Amino acid sequence: MTGARLSRFPLGMTRRTARLYSPPVQVFHEHEQVVICHDRSSGLRAIIALHDTTLGPGLGGIRMWTYPTDEAALTDVLRLSEGMTYKNALAGLPLGGGKTVMLGDPRKDKSDAQFAALGRFVDSMGGRYLAAEDVGTTTADAEIVATQTQYITGLPQARGGSGDPSPMTAWGVVCGMRAALREVGHDEGLAGVRVAVQGAGHVGGDVARHLLEAGAVVTVSDIYEDRLEPLRGLGASTAAPADVHAVECEIYSPCALGAVIRPDTIEELNCRIIAGAANNQLADDSMGDALVRRGILYAPDFAINAGGVINIGEELGRPYDAERARVSVERIEQTLADVFARSRADGEPTHRTALRMARERIEQARAAA
Ligand code: NAD
Repeated sequence: MTGARLSRFPLGMTRRTARLYSPPVQVFHEHEQVVICHDRSSGLRAIIALHDTTLGPGLGGIRMWTYPTDEAALTDVLRLSEGMTYKNALAGLPLGGGKTVMLGDPRKDKSDAQFAALGRFVDSMGGRYLAAEDVGTTTADAEIVATQTQYITGLPQARGGSGDPSPMTAWGVVCGMRAALREVGHDEGLAGVRVAVQGAGHVGGDVARHLLEAGAVVTVSDIYEDRLEPLRGLGASTAAPADVHAVECEIYSPCALGAVIRPDTIEELNCRIIAGAANNQLADDSMGDALVRRGILYAPDFAINAGGVINIGEELGRPYDAERARVSVERIEQTLADVFARSRADGEPTHRTALRMARERIEQARAAA
């Protein structure tokens, strides 16, 4: 680890025992570098994790969240940065995996000084890590980071960046749904297909709009009523947040939180396919195996939600072009078709196949280096 150390210790630890403390080993999976960032004057507390740079600089967003403990923040950034390695690899991008977590409440604790301080930490990594926005941060925050470093992506298109990645993430999810429908023997596209979308935010709202345009029968759910109203106007029906996973449909599309496929929900699923944008949809790997037993096809989250990073990839090394980005994002349909075909041929659940394909790509690059 480099950088300043955590300014608070995990619960119940003194300064002396904390020196001996090591976080749960299972979340460290050959991470290349972990930087603890502390800036006294702004109050910034953040962790940057770089998981693997075999394919290129580690790309991953800046998440701001109220973590209950420093250990929880560290666990999150280690997991998320590793996930970015596989997402970027499977998408065929020349990028590795990284991530930042900022400790604090994005509604109360944000300041320009903190994002400027974070920008200096990002800059100190010399381009091995490329930052972007994520949960709890916005394009405006990214613009403050950009005052201190060139290693920030997703700036507004007017500034030469690729802008908000959400619309391309949503489009990629819809492309992935087409591949999933074909895999279950439905070749007629989305018209008339029943889809339950959980979360009508930046991505879920756009997914629902694309589906309605394509003639799908859409049910949406959100904890905020104002997110649902415009979609009702377009013809969507709604379900309560507690029930949306159990709606009878062809496709259940988790576009809100992670860990929605877990022991208490899996038996209530009433769908043929799971295809959505949320990260870490499976509470753990055993849930992917359980979906196979239930005859439900799972589109691995990091394969189907890669539209945002593919869009960012389009701003690197050449001027961003939205039309070219759209064509690149549409390759998600083929990537998923490849995952499904291999999963079928190898008799292996799709989430394991997707991970294996991503790791193979990294190994090939390592062997060729
Ligand atoms: P967002 O915050 O804009 O939208 C999430 C929505 O889910 C919100 O409207 C929220 O009210 C709703 N929600 C929260 N809990 C809910 C519940 N229990 N039931 C129903 N709705 C609930 O976030 P987003 O940018 O749309 O991202 C959605 C998911 O996709 C996240 O898991 C994110 O990590 C993932 N993702 C996003 C992108 C991107 O480009 N934005 C890329 C890859 C993955």
